[in-house]
Amino acid sequence: MDEGRPLYKRVLLKLSGEALLGEQPYGLDFKRVRTIAQELRQIQQLGVDIAIMIGGGNIFRGSVGVKEGMDRVVADHIGLLATVINGIALQDALEKEGVNTRLISALEIRSVAEPFIRRRALRHLEKGRVIIFTAGLGSPYFTTDTAAALRALEIKAEVILKATKVDGVYTADPMVEAQATKFDFIGFQEVIQQELKVMDSTAITLCKDNNLPIIVFNLNVPGNIKKAVLGERVGTKVS
Ligand code: UDP
Repeated sequence: MDEGRPLYKRVLLKLSGEALLGEQPYGLDFKRVRTIAQELRQIQQLGVDIAIMIGGGNIFRGSVGVKEGMDRVVADHIGLLATVINGIALQDALEKEGVNTRLISALEIRSVAEPFIRRRALRHLEKGRVIIFTAGLGSPYFTTDTAAALRALEIKAEVILKATKVDGVYTADPMVEAQATKFDFIGFQEVIQQELKVMDSTAITLCKDNNLPIIVFNLNVPGNIKKAVLGERVGTKVS
C-alpha cells in the first residue's frame, strides 16, 4: 500500500439512518451530517468514486410500524420515504462542501431525485460526482443493506464500507456483553453460521456469492472512512 494512495478506486458506503442521529433520539443532527460530508469530501479528493446507500432508521423503520399494527407494505413505504429525507439532507451538506452530487431514488420522485439508470449512475461516478442512493430497492420487505449490496455489485464497487456505531464485528453484541471480542478478519461463512450481526442475511448472501468484501467500522471515530479507503486496518473485514 502506498502512503496516502487509496486501496479502492470505487466504494459503496452504507450509512444507516442512525449515523445521522448524533446525540439525538430521533431525526437528523445537522452537525453530524456536516461532519460526514466533510470526511467524504476528503475521500473524494483522493480520487475515489463514492456511492452512498442511505438508510432511514433515524426517522422510521417498517418494523416499528408493523408492531403498531400497520400493514407491512405501507410501513415499508414510509420507511423508504424516510431514506429520501436523509438523502436530501446529505446531498445539501455535500454540495455545501463543494462536492458535486446526484440524488437517486428507487421510488419515482422525479422533482427531487433521479431514477436509477445504471449507465447514468456509472457516468456520474466517472465524472467525479458522489451518488446518493435513496429509497433502497424501492420495494417493501427489503432493507437498505440488501440494496447496498445489490447496487454495489451493479456499479462495480470493490468494497462495501458499512458504517456503524461499533468498532467492527464482535463475537457478541459489545454493548450487551463486556467480554465480547472483535474480529479483524472474518469469512462470510462464519458470519452466516454464527448469525453475527453484520448485515441482514439477504445482503450477506449476495456479497458472499459475488465475492464482494465488506468493511464494518465505527463512523463515530473521525478519519475512519479514510482509513478504510486507504486500506489501513480499521474495523472488521468480511471477505
Ligand atoms: N425499506 C424497504 N425496502 C428497501 C429498503 C428499505 O422497504 O429496499 C424500508 C424498511 O421499512 C426499512 C426502512 O425502509 O425499515 C429504512 O431502511 P433501513 O431499516 O434499512 O435503514 P437503516 O437501518 O439503515 O437506517
